[in-house]
Amino acid sequence: MKTQHLLLPFALLGMPTAAIPAASCWGYSGESAPENWSKLDPAFAACEKGVYQSPINIRNAIKGKLPPLSLSFTAKKNALVHNGHTLQINVADGDKLRLDNQDFTLQQCHFHMPSENLIDGKSYPLEAHFVYRNDQNQLAVVGVMFVKGEANTAIAYLLRNLPRQINVAVPLTAAFSLASLLPKNKSYYRFSGSLTTPPCTEGVRWLILRQPVELSAAQINAFSAALGIRNNRPVHPLHGRMVVTE
Ligand SMILES: [Zn+2]
Repeated sequence: MKTQHLLLPFALLGMPTAAIPAASCWGYSGESAPENWSKLDPAFAACEKGVYQSPINIRNAIKGKLPPLSLSFTAKKNALVHNGHTLQINVADGDKLRLDNQDFTLQQCHFHMPSENLIDGKSYPLEAHFVYRNDQNQLAVVGVMFVKGEANTAIAYLLRNLPRQINVAVPLTAAFSLASLLPKNKSYYRFSGSLTTPPCTEGVRWLILRQPVELSAAQINAFSAALGIRNNRPVHPLHGRMVVTE
């Protein structure tokens, strides 16, 4: 595997520049870009060979009977970390998704700029992914789109608690709930897809909320500077998959 160090422009925020560990060989530009992921490691073969890959352009959604989204947030000891690929909120055990008569537990929440999924061809400046796992190790991801608008208090809180070094987590106060990142209206699109990062594993249940959440132009700029990279994998063909919505 090719050793590569990516320098993040933390200097933009007066932060020390940090190098990403060599193990994180995949990325979003140059030789480590998404179109090369399958060549970086045999374990990443699905990134090229998979047929039900994410992200997608969500369009022609079929009206179906989807149950209301069942989410609960109780975890208190969360932390914000920049892992070299994304800004991620590590979540203590306790946040749940009830889906298909199964319990899924939230593992982490992370961000992409610009959005990975598109809705009717539209890209959003920011997309959050809430990654859940059930006891059979199956994954479900709840996605939230962000649009430019009013300032967002949850994003403001995260911007006040940015990590200053790669892989060094900043504890978040118990008062901060991930629920504050979600829109009021929880109606959603559902489809089958994959992880959008290596190893691009398929069989992921995707639930993308239809209503975007607002954040200000200044917050978009600040979040982008903190992220330091554009980390959106391009969209993939549906290959006969259907998107269902309420
Ligand atoms: Zn993601």
